[in-house]
Amino acid sequence: MTPTFFFEKILFNDGIKHNVRILTDTDGTITDIQPNATAALADEHINGITIPGFQNAHSHAFQYAMAGLAEIHDPSHRSDSFWTWRNAMYDLALSISPDDLEAIASMLYAEMLNAGYTNVAEFHYVHHDKDGQKYASLSEMGSRLIAAAQKTGMNITLVPIFYQKGGLGVPAVEGQKRFLSPDMESYLKLLESSKMDALSYKGANIGIGIHSMRGVDPEEIKRISEAGPQDLPFHIHISEQLKEVEDAIAYLGQRPVEWFAEHIKLSDRYHLVHATHLTKNEVLSLAETRANVVLCPTTEGNLGDGIFPLNQYHALNGQWSIGTDSHVSLDPLEELRLLDYGQRLTSHSRMTFAHKTGDSGLFAINQALISGRKAMNDYNETYFKVGSVLNAVTYNLSTPLLASSADSKLLSTLVYSASAKQAICTISRGKIVSKEGHHIHQSELTKGFINVIHALKTRL
Ligand SMILES: [Zn+2]
Repeated sequence: MTPTFFFEKILFNDGIKHNVRILTDTDGTITDIQPNATAALADEHINGITIPGFQNAHSHAFQYAMAGLAEIHDPSHRSDSFWTWRNAMYDLALSISPDDLEAIASMLYAEMLNAGYTNVAEFHYVHHDKDGQKYASLSEMGSRLIAAAQKTGMNITLVPIFYQKGGLGVPAVEGQKRFLSPDMESYLKLLESSKMDALSYKGANIGIGIHSMRGVDPEEIKRISEAGPQDLPFHIHISEQLKEVEDAIAYLGQRPVEWFAEHIKLSDRYHLVHATHLTKNEVLSLAETRANVVLCPTTEGNLGDGIFPLNQYHALNGQWSIGTDSHVSLDPLEELRLLDYGQRLTSHSRMTFAHKTGDSGLFAINQALISGRKAMNDYNETYFKVGSVLNAVTYNLSTPLLASSADSKLLSTLVYSASAKQAICTISRGKIVSKEGHHIHQSELTKGFINVIHALKTRL
């Protein structure tokens, strides 16, 4: 028997509805939605405000193990930057085994589910063994991410990453040896192997990914965008750091996004991660082709990347989603707020998310959801509908501000005054996977995670 759910308040595209019963099949697919229902006939009574599960459009699971570690600085060494952080990240990437990765990712995905993310796009580039040799199964490490998702109930879009170079015109360095595919043909074999792995779990699918303009020869990027699979979302880090922009100008005579927009036939299957440093023309080239950007405000802030020109992008109806990237925060509400406040602080205006509906909270949730779903290869824009899998998060309405808010004020109160702590129930694939901030396997996963971290000795 599959449980029937009764939702006190649930957000549909046309507004918040009360007393809605939702039925699913054994795979978690919605089979019936009954408005104005009675609670008596349901197995699970979900009190609070329920919204669709958040989409985490950019994650590197292994980096969760180092969240917070790069904040201890040597005072005599005053040049800590993205690039020194990257060295620490490489050290970690070189040390983890497939079992380590599975334990770290399982903990991470459980914590994401606790915070209301039900889907993750895993931008995955640690492919080979510690010596840089291929595993017997090419996608061994990726299969561990899928296993972690299945164990925790997370929906995963595994994006195996093509990584080839150390920089524009520069060979890869020793620290990158676990990441590399020498050419497109070799990468496509990895992609195919990942596709086979994804068949083992109904909550898994795949995307196609290029590490960055500095990670793959530009001609190869062009070739794969034309000759590679056309039915998968295409993810790439781009224009995150000023040095990347300078290097691209020196090597290509063009800025990264300028080159990308001119040489790649952009569409809404493209997801450009960060895209921090853009000229007006670059902003226009992304918005007019309906390409998406994936913004990771807490990581971008942590790494000192810069601030994406969101107000300009919005004026051209640009599309964006959010990601937690290095996982210094796992709270979707915090990502949305920080994204907005970066704009407010630099524009001296408070209208970042208010230009369309007037309701900043609703706009932010809607935008992160619709573009986020595309990052997972899901083009469905309906919040809850028959035939779709039930993924949802419920926030507690007994906190003072939410308890006293009318429906019309609820979503903005949520986005601007609440946190993941108020997420009291997460349903993924039609099953309750987290309640009151605790994943159903919380203690077992925590134990496994702590054992791995102690063995790695990175947090001692
Ligand atoms: Zn990233």
